[in-house]
Amino acid sequence: MHRGARQIGGNCVELAVPGARLILDLGLPLDAQLPRSRPDGTWDAAAVKDLMAAGVLPAVDGLYAQGSGDPILALLVSHAYADHYGLASFARPDIPIVAGKYARRLMDLTARIMGAPALGPAGPEVRHEQVLEIGPFRITPYLVDHSAFDAYAFLVESGGRRVLYSGDLRAHGRKESMFEHLVAHGPRGVDALLLEGTTLARDKGEPQPSERDIEIAMIDAMRAATGLVLAWSSGQNIDRLVTIYRAALQSGRKLLIDPYIALVLDSLSEVGSLPKMEWGPVRVLFPKRVSSLMELRGYGDFMKRAGAQGVRWQTVCDRPSEFVAMFRNSMLDDHLRHGTLKGAQMIYSMWSGYLADDRNKRVVEAIDQAGGSLTSLHSVGRASGGSGSVVEALVPRRVVPMHTLVPELYATLGPTISVVDDGAILALEA
Ligand SMILES: [Zn+2]
Repeated sequence: MHRGARQIGGNCVELAVPGARLILDLGLPLDAQLPRSRPDGTWDAAAVKDLMAAGVLPAVDGLYAQGSGDPILALLVSHAYADHYGLASFARPDIPIVAGKYARRLMDLTARIMGAPALGPAGPEVRHEQVLEIGPFRITPYLVDHSAFDAYAFLVESGGRRVLYSGDLRAHGRKESMFEHLVAHGPRGVDALLLEGTTLARDKGEPQPSERDIEIAMIDAMRAATGLVLAWSSGQNIDRLVTIYRAALQSGRKLLIDPYIALVLDSLSEVGSLPKMEWGPVRVLFPKRVSSLMELRGYGDFMKRAGAQGVRWQTVCDRPSEFVAMFRNSMLDDHLRHGTLKGAQMIYSMWSGYLADDRNKRVVEAIDQAGGSLTSLHSVGRASGGSGSVVEALVPRRVVPMHTLVPELYATLGPTISVVDDGAILALEA
């Protein structure tokens, strides 16, 4: 266990058998920041050293440079959120990265827009329940229900031992059936279940609303609004984006996406159920900062295509009640400049803790000053009525808490709990 025993995000686990190793996730801790990369698109050696010294890069022999241990055959990435893959570009370029095809696209796109170093080569394609053989490891991916697109849990088998790594789970998103599938058909009796526990602490409190609940509440808020509706959400939370899109349609409004979200959706365009910028009820609005960044990163052709689906700021200003506009704090100045905040209804749809951030406080104040209002509608989703039912159904020999602040709470789940602290090794004997 390199990291993740007592924190949410920043996951990194090493699986070792004689002669070979695998890495499960290489996440950036939620409170850590990456340095700037060099103009040639590589990491500066001194910056890497600093990150190692600060413990941001977990000390895994042979992961970043030639080591003395057994070879690392692959880095498995459960999903494309930075707290699970954000340090992957530091791994040696000859270590293949095994991730879902769409997850990989989202990771590549993010790296390009951020101007960050490219990721290592893609390993064999990950598909739901299709076994991959990598050296002595037999890997079975299970598609899971998560707000991140194309997210997996991994069963890894080798030398008669079996480990199931949950990645992030939840049970009431738009792919709830995948969660039920894992419970019904997931591997029974594994030697160790490395189980995320984001919401274990909350289980005893109120149940989290489902995406459908959020959708209904959003429809109400959008119908009640008289001015522009702004939807403040993460650009890579695809489930929530679909929820906002559906709510906009049902309240008779068009959805305005920015070119970054348009690009994310375009890169997933084979997935039939996701909205696209070419669809009638979707239009692209061009905030300054993200637009110039995308031009700078070489997306000029895409920007032309998006421009054909564009809406002018003046139109939004003149007829605000026709639209729901996706919002991030980098767009505040555009809205201030164009006067579109006047009487606006902001729907805040992320973790409430982020509102304490200075840049976000500025948004809240600006809305207040413009006579608008803010409503919070969110669900963390990663549920764990969930975790409990997975454990009950799969009856693992032991559960290893991960991605949690409270490993002690796992004791309520029933089977043997092995807390493996960061830096500690768990031996799975026969
Ligand atoms: Zn996570």
